[in-house]
Amino acid sequence: NKFTDFPLSAKTLKGLRESGYHKPTEIQKETIGLALQGKDILGAAQTGSGKTLAFLIPVLETLFTKQWTNLDGLGALVITPTRELAYQIFEALRNVGQHHDFSAGLIIGGKDLKFERNRMDQCNIVICTPGRLLQHMDQNPLFDCVNMKVLVLDEADRCLDMGFEQTMNAIIANLPPKRQTLLFSATQTKSVKDLARLSLKDPSYISV
Ligand code: AMP
Repeated sequence: NKFTDFPLSAKTLKGLRESGYHKPTEIQKETIGLALQGKDILGAAQTGSGKTLAFLIPVLETLFTKQWTNLDGLGALVITPTRELAYQIFEALRNVGQHHDFSAGLIIGGKDLKFERNRMDQCNIVICTPGRLLQHMDQNPLFDCVNMKVLVLDEADRCLDMGFEQTMNAIIANLPPKRQTLLFSATQTKSVKDLARLSLKDPSYISV
């Protein structure tokens, strides 16, 4: 029961170790192996379970250890309900990903759209809130995500409770169908199941 039990890159293992993470939590144990095989995931997990690293580790491994011919621009998009969660994910990514070479950005408002847009075009990993991302997509439907490999829907139930169902559907409809999707939700309501049906392909169910 150690991170070294998984086939993770030396860079990720070093980032984990230096951030003080040695043993995976339950959700991490269950998710990492399946996600590394490319599976879509429907994870039932609460805040505090360690779900952030459960998706960030596979995102890092998928983007930066596989031999892509076209890893240009946006490779992974993480959608989370609030700015505060977005900041937390960004921090965790900076820590665990410290030995990988990439750029990450937050799209959460508070800066003008043009600034965020330029930033987004230079990022490999974008962490965003749904409302703000939709504003960008409204302005520029050709939001460049042709090379996107992984979509993460974090705290999907909260995003839906906040009234973002249409927004999430619109975002998903604009993303390349050939991608991996990791969806996490504390509760499994009907609207979460609808979103899962729309966004996941043959998912593995993980409940901790
Ligand atoms: P999360 O559920 O992702 O918000 O994580 C909750 C807390 O658990 C955060 O403070 C993390 O830093 C911490 N955490 C996540 N994974 C681990 C781990 N494998 N070992 C120890 N702490 C962890």
